[in-house]
Amino acid sequence: MSPHPTVAKTITARPVIACHECDLLQRAIAVPPGGVARCRRCGGELYRAAHRRLDPTLALVLAAAVLFAVANAFPIVGLEIQGIRNVTNLFGAVQALWNQEMRPIAALVFLTTILMPAVNLAVMIYLLLPLKLGRRPAGLTVIMRVLQSVKPWGMLEVFMLGIIVALVKLTHFATVVPGLALWSFAVLTLLLAAAAASFNVRDVWDRAYPAPRGEVRA
Ligand SMILES: [Zn+2]
Repeated sequence: MSPHPTVAKTITARPVIACHECDLLQRAIAVPPGGVARCRRCGGELYRAAHRRLDPTLALVLAAAVLFAVANAFPIVGLEIQGIRNVTNLFGAVQALWNQEMRPIAALVFLTTILMPAVNLAVMIYLLLPLKLGRRPAGLTVIMRVLQSVKPWGMLEVFMLGIIVALVKLTHFATVVPGLALWSFAVLTLLLAAAAASFNVRDVWDRAYPAPRGEVRA
């Protein structure tokens, strides 16, 4: 039991937020829907109003997980040269790079197009599914940190651009047959961007630690 219940209640109701730009600590305030809270000193954006709805993000992430599985299971592209057809999936391409002594590139492609997107999707599902069911996922703080560090490493859109350029060049001397995985990757890139846009960190904290009844959380 806290010796100063009033103080403790105030702190719980109005968390302290550090400005990303100038580190000034400020108490959170309630923000109207669509509104933005800005730093008192530098005017930097502190946070946006919470949507309080995680369902659209969860739906996008689950759809992205299915597409990610399809994109990795099926051939990404087939090449036909003089009647000989060669197909490969993404992991096969990574293996080919590895075997051709391009190991740093193989590792980078594996990291940015397979491992990090997989970890990102797994973490998002681990986070959002229990919250949807009304439970707080174990290790929430650690998971949020993992999510922040994984995010910049997922580079599927860069990979997609690279593939398009490579395919256009390859059409000069081989017949290029786009595989199911290529279309899946294209849609997956859009889904991941939509999921990232609809994901609001404050919604997660609000759902995990709901404000007491009658209080408006910023
Ligand atoms: Zn500031």
